[in-house]
Amino acid sequence: MNKVMSEKLFERACKVMPGGVNSPVRSGKAVGASPIFVSRAEGAYIWDEDGNKFIDYVCSWGPLILGHAHPDVVNAICKTAKKGTSYGIPTRLEVEMAELVAHMVPSIEMVRFVNSGTEATMSALRLARGFTGRSKIIKFTGCYHGHSDCLLVSSGSGVATLGIPGCPGVPESFVSSTISIPYNDIDAVQSVMNQVGDDVAAIIVEPVAGNMGVVPPQEGFLEGLREVCDRWKCLLIFDEVITGFRLSSGGAQQLFKVLPDITCLGKIIGGGLPVGAYGGKADIMKHIAPVGSIYQAGTLSGNPLAMAAGLTTLKILQDDALYRELEEKGAYLEQGLKNAASKVGVPVTIQRIGSMGCGFFTDSPVKNFEDAQKCDTDAYALFWNTMLNEGIYLAPSQFEAFFISTAHSYNDLDKTIEAAEKSLRKILESRQR
Ligand SMILES: *Cc1c(COP(=O)(O)O)cnc(C)c1O
Repeated sequence: MNKVMSEKLFERACKVMPGGVNSPVRSGKAVGASPIFVSRAEGAYIWDEDGNKFIDYVCSWGPLILGHAHPDVVNAICKTAKKGTSYGIPTRLEVEMAELVAHMVPSIEMVRFVNSGTEATMSALRLARGFTGRSKIIKFTGCYHGHSDCLLVSSGSGVATLGIPGCPGVPESFVSSTISIPYNDIDAVQSVMNQVGDDVAAIIVEPVAGNMGVVPPQEGFLEGLREVCDRWKCLLIFDEVITGFRLSSGGAQQLFKVLPDITCLGKIIGGGLPVGAYGGKADIMKHIAPVGSIYQAGTLSGNPLAMAAGLTTLKILQDDALYRELEEKGAYLEQGLKNAASKVGVPVTIQRIGSMGCGFFTDSPVKNFEDAQKCDTDAYALFWNTMLNEGIYLAPSQFEAFFISTAHSYNDLDKTIEAAEKSLRKILESRQR
């Protein structure tokens, strides 16, 4: 594979941006590669600066459930841009978008739009602390909730990929009120609550963990969290930045029928533009300024281009047939990968829910971060590089999800399965050496 242009750009990039990237997860560090530089994308495909074409399973890390450059979304952005790109004054688009989000997400009556998932979770915590008058936060190890100070504790995603333990620059006092517990361990939650429950403002969780690979909740886990929060009168925050509009039109909460007090949204909600949101019951949300005294603001929040892209995407997603199609494609890919792995004889644990999934290089199920860390990351690195050469773009880390969009065809999935078999053979060969 020719990488001449990408490598030239990477060299320039490294001189003016740390690591040559604007988000650490894009660096190929964990798989021993330099990044490709994208020149354009359409549907399920991306093309790099050297003209190589790839089937894309990163989909901008989740937002592009309709694939790249969906014509309706692109049209909506262009049409809106001609009328101005930002006003800092309310617009009809924000109202329509808020109404649609409240309609689609079961637990949301009122919503506040922000510009990223990080902003959504950070603001949701402030709201939970302001609302309850308490300070402690419980999160789960391997879950990632953006990079704000008090949530950067035992995080997944890039933090896990790069093996960063604590984070210099985050003062001890900021994280001292954050408690991190193993995912899926409701007994541990109960025993922590027995000690400090009266000081806990919120429990924040990814209802399906998607930042340590993909780890679904075990039966009773989410229900257990709901009960604990009710008993101790603290708020349950679902970080649905990945799962929102991904697992169903109403997110994980609709699928698992467990309702949080506050929902954080991001990724898909912006249709490929920078949008985040947090929402919940009106009596909680009304504590936010200007109605209440919990301050949170944003110059570009509710930006018309972002609202146009998001609104267009969400309107298309109000169709259950589309989620059935994604589930069928997901199941097809899962089965194909499982067949390839058993045919070649390399143990891979594939965990999938709907159109998100992950192949862990281990032979046992992964129910928390400790399990995920037992994976053979060298095998993943070899797998990733071989897949890239075969024209398949995966996340350059064992601890990230793959995403299928409606634009992925069965032909694309077949090619992917074929490439996976080849890549697994390489791993087998390297192990036999
Ligand atoms: C991506 C992600 C975030 C952070 O969103 P950004 O838009 O990258 O700030 C927060 N929570 C979860 C679950 C995520 O996957």
